[in-house]
Amino acid sequence: MKAILQDCSLLELSRLVADAGEKPFRAGQLAEGLLQGKRISEIPVPAALKAYLLERFEEEPVRIERVFTAADGTKKYLFALADGNLVEGVLMKYRYGNTQCVSTQVGCRMGCTFCASTLGGLVRNLTAGEILSQILAVNRAEGGTPKARAVTNVVLMGSGEPFDNYDRVVKFLRLLTAEDGLRVSARNISLSTCGLVPQMRAFCGEGIALNLTVSLHGVTDEERARIMPVAKAYRIADILQACGEYFAATGRRYIFEYSLIAGENSDERHALALAELLRGRPCHVNLIRLNAVKERRLRAADERMAQRFLQILKSRGISATIRRSMGSDIGGACGQLRAGYLRGEDV
Ligand code: SAH
Repeated sequence: MKAILQDCSLLELSRLVADAGEKPFRAGQLAEGLLQGKRISEIPVPAALKAYLLERFEEEPVRIERVFTAADGTKKYLFALADGNLVEGVLMKYRYGNTQCVSTQVGCRMGCTFCASTLGGLVRNLTAGEILSQILAVNRAEGGTPKARAVTNVVLMGSGEPFDNYDRVVKFLRLLTAEDGLRVSARNISLSTCGLVPQMRAFCGEGIALNLTVSLHGVTDEERARIMPVAKAYRIADILQACGEYFAATGRRYIFEYSLIAGENSDERHALALAELLRGRPCHVNLIRLNAVKERRLRAADERMAQRFLQILKSRGISATIRRSMGSDIGGACGQLRAGYLRGEDV
C-alpha cells in the first residue's frame, strides 16, 4: 500500500508541497479538497502535483463499499480500504445531530467473548488518515461540507480497541479537532476502551477532553475475566483510578458501558455491586442489552431485568440510562456487518 495523504496535518502538507517544488498556497488547496472528502485526482491542483502525489499516496484510502439503511434511519456503512480490507461504521441520526461510529482497527485482538469484531483476531491497525477518511467519506455522502457538517458527533466504538492503536488514534483525534480541520469539538467525541490502563494514564496527558468511556461489563475482576480476557491484565481498581486521573486532568465525567448478558452479569446482586463500586464517582452508566451475535452463545438480559437493573442503580444515586438499540435490524453491533459480509451473506 502507498502512504495515506489524509494522515497529514496542514503543516505536513506544506512540507510535502515544498518538497514537490510547488507554491505554498497549494497546501491549503490540498487540505480543502481532502476535507471535502475528495479523491486526489478530484482536487483542483496542477497536473504535475497530482502526478507527484498519486505516485506516493493512495488515491482513495476509504471507499464506501455498501450502505444499509435501517427502519429507524440509522445507516451502516461498509468501507473498503486501499488494500482490500473491510471495516464498518454507523451513522445514527438524533434530534441534536448525527453521530458517526468509526473503526480504529481491522479486527481486534482483545478477545471479548460477546463481540463480533474480535472473531478473526487483529488484521491490522488503521492509520489516523484512514480513521478520518471514514468521516470524510460519510460527510460527503450525506451532503455535508467542512463548514456545515453532516457528521456532528463521533464515537470511537466501531471495530478495534482504540488504545491498542494509541499513537494513530491520538493523531486522528488531533486532526479531527484541529482548527483548520473538521473542527469537531472534543466534547462531541467519545472514545471507548476495554480498559487498557497504561494507555488510559498516558491519555490524561494529551490535553484532549473527550468523553472517556470504559467497557466494564462486570463487577469483579473474576467475573469480568470470564467474558473479557483483558481483565486478567488490568484490575477494575486500577481502571477506576485511571478514570479519576482523567477527570482530574479534564474535568469531564467518564462513562461506563455495561452490556447486560442473561445469567452472566445482569442480576440484582450485580446491580447492587456496581452501585457500590461507582458510588460518589463523577460518572455515568450506559446499560446496553446485549446484541446477540450469531457466532456466540450469549443471550441478552430481558427488558424487565434491564429496567430493574437501571432502577437499582438510580435508586442508589448512580446516573444511568439504557441505551436505545439502534439499527439492530441491520447488524448494528460491533463487527456484525463485516462478519456477515465476509461469510458471504446477503446482509
Ligand atoms: N474496543 C473498545 C471499542 C468497542 S466499543 C471497547 O471495548 O470499548 C463497542 C462497545 O460495544 C463496547 O462497550 C463493547 O464491549 C460493546 N459490545 C461489543 N459487542 C457487543 C454486543 N454484541 N452487544 C452489546 N455490546 C457489545
